[in-house]
Amino acid sequence: MTGFASLPPVPAAEPARDELEVLQEIHGILAGERFALLTGAGLSTDSGIPDYRGPGAAPRAPMTYQEFIGAPDNRRRYWARNHIGWSHLRRADPNDGHAAVARLEHRGLLTGLITQNVDRLHEDAGSVNVVDLHGRFDQVVCLACHRRYSRTLLAGVLTELNPGFLERALAAGVIEMAPDADATVEDEDLIESFVVAHCPACGGTLKPDFVYFGENVPKDRVERSYAMVDEAGALLVAGSSLTVMSGLRFARHAAKHGKPVVIINRGQTRGDELATVKLDAGVSESLRWLADELPPL
Ligand SMILES: [Zn+2]
Repeated sequence: MTGFASLPPVPAAEPARDELEVLQEIHGILAGERFALLTGAGLSTDSGIPDYRGPGAAPRAPMTYQEFIGAPDNRRRYWARNHIGWSHLRRADPNDGHAAVARLEHRGLLTGLITQNVDRLHEDAGSVNVVDLHGRFDQVVCLACHRRYSRTLLAGVLTELNPGFLERALAAGVIEMAPDADATVEDEDLIESFVVAHCPACGGTLKPDFVYFGENVPKDRVERSYAMVDEAGALLVAGSSLTVMSGLRFARHAAKHGKPVVIINRGQTRGDELATVKLDAGVSESLRWLADELPPL
């Protein structure tokens, strides 16, 4: 290992000295192992996508699947806010952290990547073996016929149905953005006036292709994720507070099978008690350090 001081100068922040000590401990656990990586919203904050629950994030209750299905008014609100949020999310670029994760994979150090993010920034950065546990923001699905459509194509339809909507919403001011493309805006009347699009094939209800609160993660994704953990010598969790069971269960699974669980996250997580080592630090710079320092297998 070459040591931190020998790294070439880069514009991003570097780990602080005490963080470096913990990173070296993590290095000791992961070196010589193929490990599974689980990422969450904390990885994308450096790309300008706010976290749900990170420090400074306002508490927010996302719409549940039952609310979405239960009332046309809820769906109107949801799609209006999603249309604004989507226009922001699609402009986001992967950051240093995503690039480091892709590098870990290309160097053969990962059994796979499980992400709770729907923003597709891992794929944009070059990660290949990825489970999008909670779905993807760039697709929509018809709840009746299960056809999937590109969100970009739907954007054209929504813009035709709602001329001037995006411009007015952005002019009114976006109050808050969330990582699932939900956006809170000032102008409630504008939200109420939104016209929703239906499935062009069957007229069914369209839903963004991600897993809502109150909805189960599809079985094949869960099984692929468990397989990544089973194949691995350790589990690294980066940028997730593990608040929801859909992610926490993989940390529990690894711990139950005697595999080290390493957590890198700003702030507390629900998996801290399972962690062999926990680093409370910036995710991008920590992952970059590991991608630079871990030896090839
Ligand atoms: Zn349909």
